Amino acid sequence: MKDKTAIVTGGTRGIGKAIVLELAKNGCNVAFNYARSDELANALVKEIELLGVKALAKKADVSDFESAKNMVKEVKDNFGQIDILVNNAGITKDKLLALMGENDWNDVINTNLKSVYNFSKAVIMTMVKQKRGSILNITSVSGIAGVAGQVNYSASKAGMIGFTKALAKEVGKANVNVNAIACGFIETDMTSSLPEEYKKKMTDMTSLKRFGKPEEVAKIAMFLLSDDAKYITGHVLTVDGGLAL
Ligand code: NAP
Repeated sequence: MKDKTAIVTGGTRGIGKAIVLELAKNGCNVAFNYARSDELANALVKEIELLGVKALAKKADVSDFESAKNMVKEVKDNFGQIDILVNNAGITKDKLLALMGENDWNDVINTNLKSVYNFSKAVIMTMVKQKRGSILNITSVSGIAGVAGQVNYSASKAGMIGFTKALAKEVGKANVNVNAIACGFIETDMTSSLPEEYKKKMTDMTSLKRFGKPEEVAKIAMFLLSDDAKYITGHVLTVDGGLAL
């Protein structure tokens, strides 16, 4: 990872933050964006710089294409290259379809799926021209199995899987890898507000009988982004403690 440059969307908390730190610990310069958490972003920039690599934080909505283009340009201008893109930012707005408003649908699709188009589109020609690059999409077992109360989220996460496979076919000849991690339940702010009873049920359904930690996802992300995984592309790796079994 030494001297490589990565962009991670949604880097201030949870899985994104763990991936940012794992990349930085391994010598990668890291740029990340976020929606609201200014204080967390400033603290994370300091933490990354203490690890001896460059950091850049950008407050920008991932669903906005112009913002994505601007961030990618700024990263290229500052760091000179882009080797890695992790499409991580995501939200949930869970409701049964009968009660789901158009905004609940649009917000989740735009934040979780359109963002993947925005950032991948903004970096792809750079990666293709330099004949080097890795894109990793953080999706969910909800996009594989479908979850009642999450038609918007499941659709967005299934869309990421199709995107991963299609883009892997497009850019393989340019030595660009495109993979995805499908998470089960991971201990982050996204899952902390779930009702206790539901959390217990999901823990019981998970073979390893616990939620995963963001750092455990980050280690797998690191492997898929490393040269050791250069012959893996178009793959969706489930990191769910056996939930989907
Ligand atoms: P999280 O703790 O809620 O963190 C979400 C991150 O995304 C934050 O950094 C947030 O920034 C950022 N973000 C949200 N909306 C954004 C927007 N419109 N523009 C820019 N940044 C935005 O979430 P997480 O649990 O780590 O989830 C990360 C990814 O893993 C998501 O794609 C999620 O769907 C997926 N995933 C998570 C789980 C799980 O169990 N946690 C399971 C399966 C898949 P702010 O701090 O500024 O709000």
